[in-house]
Amino acid sequence: MIDVSTQSARPDVDREELEFDVLFVGGGPSNLAALWRLLDVIEARKLEGLTIGLIEKGDEIGDHAFSGAVLDPSALEELCPDYLERGFPSEGLVGEEEVWLLTSERGGFKFPFTPPYFRNHGHPVVSLSRMVRWMAAEIEKREIPGVDVMLLPGFSGIQVLWEDAPDGSRRVAGVQTADKGVNADGTKRANFEPGNRLRAKVTVFGEGPRGHLARELEEVLGLQAEAVNPQVYEMGVKEIWEVPEGRVSPGFVLHSTGWPLEGGESGGSFVYGLSGNRVAVGYDISLDTADPFADAHLALQKFKTHIRIAPLLEGGKLVQYGGKALAIGGWHSLPRLAFPGGLLVGDAAQMVNAARLKGIHLGMKGGLCAAEAIGEALATGDFSEASLGRYPKAYLESWAGRELRETRNFHQVVAHGLTPWAGLRLGLGLLSGGWVPGDPLKSEVDAAGTETVERFYGKAGLKRDDVATGVKFDGEKLIPKLDDVYQSGVMHDEHQPCHLKIVNGDEVCVACWETKGSPCTVFCPAQVYEMHPDEQGKVRKVEIAFSNCVHCKTCDIKCPEQNVIWTPPEGGGGPKYTLC
Ligand code: SF4
Repeated sequence: MIDVSTQSARPDVDREELEFDVLFVGGGPSNLAALWRLLDVIEARKLEGLTIGLIEKGDEIGDHAFSGAVLDPSALEELCPDYLERGFPSEGLVGEEEVWLLTSERGGFKFPFTPPYFRNHGHPVVSLSRMVRWMAAEIEKREIPGVDVMLLPGFSGIQVLWEDAPDGSRRVAGVQTADKGVNADGTKRANFEPGNRLRAKVTVFGEGPRGHLARELEEVLGLQAEAVNPQVYEMGVKEIWEVPEGRVSPGFVLHSTGWPLEGGESGGSFVYGLSGNRVAVGYDISLDTADPFADAHLALQKFKTHIRIAPLLEGGKLVQYGGKALAIGGWHSLPRLAFPGGLLVGDAAQMVNAARLKGIHLGMKGGLCAAEAIGEALATGDFSEASLGRYPKAYLESWAGRELRETRNFHQVVAHGLTPWAGLRLGLGLLSGGWVPGDPLKSEVDAAGTETVERFYGKAGLKRDDVATGVKFDGEKLIPKLDDVYQSGVMHDEHQPCHLKIVNGDEVCVACWETKGSPCTVFCPAQVYEMHPDEQGKVRKVEIAFSNCVHCKTCDIKCPEQNVIWTPPEGGGGPKYTLC
């Protein structure tokens, strides 16, 4: 288990203990849907004397929320049927939809019809950051006698609190939040604030993809043991542009695959028309790629030069940027969702349909099912695993479970590109409710797939600059990575310990530089990692500009040596998304 002693396990510190009936960790759409529905259940069942908390590592709820996104409103309609009347921040309803297979900067063809997985007509385009701010505000309006609800942004969960059950097994008992005001060497500053122990009867983990606490749950409870596949991911980056009036209609949607990805890579683009003459343009790359120099940011810059895309952005300007890993494992990667004292929801549980590039609705449905099970546990006082197990049962039997099951092999089929054989199997899967020859198709952990530079490019010693050619960054249309990062609003207190832990020493990173060209220096969307020669011309260590980190988690997932562990910095640091 990762040693976080510089941040939390200080024997010299008195920590406040706060008691909750239910504690939510993470202020994303799944946890907010769960909390909202739980309040409905509490009100309907007239439960009283309850304290419910939600912690979020961002400075405000919504600061770290990042997604495409065209929302399938199924779960939102279940939660709040009159969401549009209640000021839901829709950016526009999908009207025009285009799907392209691109072959070059000037080539490609538009599908004559919208393929089934891409049909979104009438669905709202959203900024997830704005959407979760609206959900939090709706929750804050609720007043239920005898029920205290605390939304607590600015607090990172650093460790799971455990209790021993009488049978010797371990039970989740809450989380500890990270200390604030700690120097890089672990000493306390004048503004030191100890993290608190937040104890709860039920803790709901909705930390998003590759949660730090979910890693601890996996190490202690082995939640992934019965899944067919490990947790797998894509990496996505997105720019928000303001463009001349009338250029892109709100609700316009374009998806593409193919160029600029090389053969054997899977991923694709999205362009979404937003309100206020804004447009979101982004690119996702599957992280099981063998290419040691795969870079979603570079793919996005190239994509913007395509003759279908460049005119959309002409005369516009960049207003926001961000990046995030996207869980894409779906059905075959679902972990155990309920365990003693806790539940997993959302991206942390791989509730994403890779075929539709959508997971918000599936995560929110997870939240709704979790809330019903928690409500029953509160009413009966039974918080056993069997009681909380109502949640996974209801989820897997719901429309969300069916949707995940019917696309259970999609990612594995397209993992090496949209070949004719892949197309045939996709068709079979569509007709058969998800079955394809070889079902269940296996995935490997993403880090395992990275090749050496010599094997992938046919020549040893190449570095990223030798192969990443053809993009002339001008800072206006084609944006260098660090200029983009500035637009994410990212900020961390630079005195604190680096939250990116190199677990087996710099020598592992140096060896990776020599053989694999240090993929972290390429895939990181915020240019956090750099390898530079010293005065003797030798590269001896990895340099980490942690204050640029936008919390995408890609390094934790894709470091080929598994030499990086992402831990939460002190609460309040990170990106400041308002439009993403
Ligand atoms: Fe993402 Fe890691 Fe880079 Fe942070 S350091 S932005 S988590 S890849």
